[in-house]
Amino acid sequence: ATPTALLVGTGRGAQLGILIKGPQVLESTRRVDTIVLDKTGTITTGRMTLATVNAYECGSEDELLRLAGAAESGSEHPIARAITAGALSRLGSLPASSAFASEQGLGVQATVDGRQILVGRPVWLLNRWGLNVPIEMQAVMGTAEGDGKTAVLVAWEGRVRGVLTVSDTVKPTSVAAVARFRTLGLTPLLVTGDNLAVAQSVAAEVGIIDVTAGVLPADKARVIRELQAKGHVVAMVGDGVNDAVALATADLGIAMGSGTDVAIEASDLTLMRSDLLAAADAIRLSRRTLATIK
Ligand code: ADP
Ligand code: MG
Repeated sequence: ATPTALLVGTGRGAQLGILIKGPQVLESTRRVDTIVLDKTGTITTGRMTLATVNAYECGSEDELLRLAGAAESGSEHPIARAITAGALSRLGSLPASSAFASEQGLGVQATVDGRQILVGRPVWLLNRWGLNVPIEMQAVMGTAEGDGKTAVLVAWEGRVRGVLTVSDTVKPTSVAAVARFRTLGLTPLLVTGDNLAVAQSVAAEVGIIDVTAGVLPADKARVIRELQAKGHVVAMVGDGVNDAVALATADLGIAMGSGTDVAIEASDLTLMRSDLLAAADAIRLSRRTLATIK
């Protein structure tokens, strides 16, 4: 490969809104045959909105939302932003919170009105806090998830007290992009920390068959290593803090420009247009650039 031809490729990349870390990156795109896609913020807009509030064993829905909204105000996660914004718009103001801590891909905790409030997924409440999810809340979660919504639980003082659901929308270009990946000979896979029902509903909407759901951030990288062990050359597209290790592990890491700094730093390419069609353009461009060199 002559450096000049490769640099022309990177210049054209800049015109298309694709920032390439260095000319050597183009080399790794040639044999890519599998593309792993994150869900939230990558296939979907990641601009979630609060959809439903179900309170059990607590004063009222407003009380549940007030405490959860305050607890989530310390988190940048799209779920947290949706809950805090939804609570603020419904209640006008929120109490202060302190002692905030989050566990990536699991949930958050904070002290509000002297109580320790937990907001997160069922497996975290069970394994980390020893809390069981009452059957009626499981039913509410199941219905929402079947409908493509993400459900999280709110707990305090030893009991799970409610279910909040948030909804996200698939980016308008994601369907065409998945079709474009197939045309380029790439097998698309969806890998997400979210629940299987939600993941399958998004996958069906964009035309992806292979889905791995409920994974922790470290497991996203393991999924990629397993594919590599089977001889696949893997590209990964993501945006979140929880995608960084997977982006660094992939043969070609592609970050959404709207994503977090850690995701961008861990990647080989950054898409200024935060759109999966730009990922397809990037792969096509680099293959063409390489073809002119041969
Ligand atoms: P994704 O792979 O779709 O980007 P994440 O790994 O960030 O998802 O999160 C996985 C799951 O962890 C979420 O679906 C949610 O159940 C839970 N979770 C993560 N962060 C939070 C938060 N701030 N509040 C409540 N739940 C959270
Ligand atoms: Mg994401």
